[in-house]
Amino acid sequence: MLDLLPAHLVARAAALDAADPLAEHRSAFVLPEGVVAYLDGNSLGRPLASTAERLRGFVDTEWGERLIRSWDERWMTRPTELGDLIGRAALGAAPGQTVVADSTTVLLYKLARAGVAARPGRTEIVADSENFPTDRFVLEGIAAERGLTMRWIRPDPATGVTLEEVEAVIGEQTALVALSHVAYKSAHVADLPGITAAVHRAGALVLWDLSHSVGSVEVDLDAAGVDLAAGCTYKYLNGGPGAPAFAYVNAALQDEVTQPIAGWMGHADPFAMGEGYEPAQGIRRFISGTPPILGMLPLEDMARLVERVGIRAVRAKSMDLTAFAIEVADEALAPLGVSVASPRDPDQRGGHVTLEHPAMASVVAELWRRGVVPDFRPPMGLRAGMSPLSTSFTEVAVALAHVAELLAGERPGG
Ligand SMILES: *Cc1c(COP(=O)(O)O)cnc(C)c1O
Repeated sequence: MLDLLPAHLVARAAALDAADPLAEHRSAFVLPEGVVAYLDGNSLGRPLASTAERLRGFVDTEWGERLIRSWDERWMTRPTELGDLIGRAALGAAPGQTVVADSTTVLLYKLARAGVAARPGRTEIVADSENFPTDRFVLEGIAAERGLTMRWIRPDPATGVTLEEVEAVIGEQTALVALSHVAYKSAHVADLPGITAAVHRAGALVLWDLSHSVGSVEVDLDAAGVDLAAGCTYKYLNGGPGAPAFAYVNAALQDEVTQPIAGWMGHADPFAMGEGYEPAQGIRRFISGTPPILGMLPLEDMARLVERVGIRAVRAKSMDLTAFAIEVADEALAPLGVSVASPRDPDQRGGHVTLEHPAMASVVAELWRRGVVPDFRPPMGLRAGMSPLSTSFTEVAVALAHVAELLAGERPGG
């Protein structure tokens, strides 16, 4: 298959793999032979091989033998311990500000609701039309529920929201600005520190969705003074399907905000079983019901791996992978009508590259049959997500060689 690419690109993939200081980590993941190339680690990361053993051990011991006693022994503190680990490994967050719970959708709701309530009298929520559907729907729902107005930014879909676009719409009426750090379609990296500072100058709060950055792009929440953030753990943190999400609430804000789903597990003393809700101090008040302990297991190993390797090294490889994919696309796919719909400046590009062609829907369907797995984003985007620790440069070359072969077989008008 690789003979479909110019020989120098194939040689470059091999040379990049040989020089890759993180190459050794790929073998820590489950790599079945039927998967020829996996370029969808930004939707669902591959499992680590250690995950199977960890789950089995958990069933036998922590659950099977310790039974209900494990809540006292380990599980009550898991959501914040794991939150602290993610914060340390990937978010630039000091302990006590990150918790694992719920889904990203539910946490976005809880944080956004807490955010607008902390800015009473202000009437607008600022968001962008290119954000992931769940983010837009949750914010629209809150606006309807609280009698607020949505103020939409309509960014260039090929890039993403700019500082200037945010500055143009924020003001005394703004309660909350909610944006994605890395755009899920284009991979554009928003100016998180700049936008956060601008939002604060307007007296509003900011909520960052980190679903496509955590574990792939460096984030420095504390340094930027971010108020609120949430994100997925089944993407670049390889937590597995439906793994619980994380929420970050800046320590300075924690006792000032209350979230809307008051439940017994976020109570100051859950086992008192008393009357009336009194929120726990600190980040625990963002928990609602019983923590999803089982779902937290796989992601712990991945968060530890990211911490060990260092997010800076992960990001460096990510930039090399996306740059290589663009190099191959420009040389071997552009002549077949493919265009790159992601930023070309590596500093403004997250962990994936979107390639557009009118025939991409059918091309991706055939790729999946062949065991080459990117994903498809309508109307015509092949999204190649290259999870840095589990993807090789040769894997990228092989996947794009298959794309070249399928597109070469496309007839105009066919
Ligand atoms: C993946 C993703 C989600 C998914 O939310 P779930 O509640 O886990 O389904 C939300 N927002 C963004 C920006 C995402 O990329």
